[in-house]
Amino acid sequence: MEKQELETAVSEVKKSPIFRKLLDDLSLITKIDFKIKPDINSGARFETDNSISFKNDGVIGAGALREELVHALQYNLFYHEDMEKPANKFNIELEAHIFVDAALTLLNNKFYEIDSNTIGYGGTESLKDAVIALMNSILSTGDFSNEQLPLYREVANNWYQYSGIYAESFPPKALYQYIKNRRI
Ligand SMILES: [Zn+2]
Repeated sequence: MEKQELETAVSEVKKSPIFRKLLDDLSLITKIDFKIKPDINSGARFETDNSISFKNDGVIGAGALREELVHALQYNLFYHEDMEKPANKFNIELEAHIFVDAALTLLNNKFYEIDSNTIGYGGTESLKDAVIALMNSILSTGDFSNEQLPLYREVANNWYQYSGIYAESFPPKALYQYIKNRRI
C-alpha cells in the first residue's frame, strides 16, 4: 500500500466540506482499513468489514476514494445489512454516484459535466440532460431535498450504467442528510 498516494487522495477529498463531515462522522463510528487486493473486479471496492480495497497502487486516487467513502457512509450510518440485498444495489450505486457529483458541484459552485461520476463514459444525451438539471437544481437551492426528488428519479430512469431497477421505496437518505452547502 502506497501510504503517500493514499494521503494525497485523502487530502484532495477533504477539500470538500461535505466529505470532511462524512469523514468526521465515519471516524466516530468505525475505522476504515485500506488494502490492496489484486483480485477485485473493479478498481476499488468497499466491503462491509469496513475495508476499502484498491486493485493496485495505480488506482489509488480521490476519484475512486470518494465513491467508496460514500459506500462506507451508506453502510455505517444508513442502510447496514440492507446494502447487501441485490434489490437495493441500483439505488445504492445511483445515490453514491450522485453524492460525489453533488458534493463537487457545491464545492466548485459549478457542475463540470466532464468530471461527472454519474454520466461517465458513454452516457446518453438524455442522461446528461437529467444530471445537469439535477445538479443545477442542487446548486440553486444549496441542498438535496424533496424538491430534487423528481429530477433524481429522472436520472434513475436514464441511468444504464448499472443493471437492476430503481426502487421508489428506497429513499436516498445520505443525499438528504449530507448534501448541504456547508460553508467554511
Ligand atoms: Zn459503487
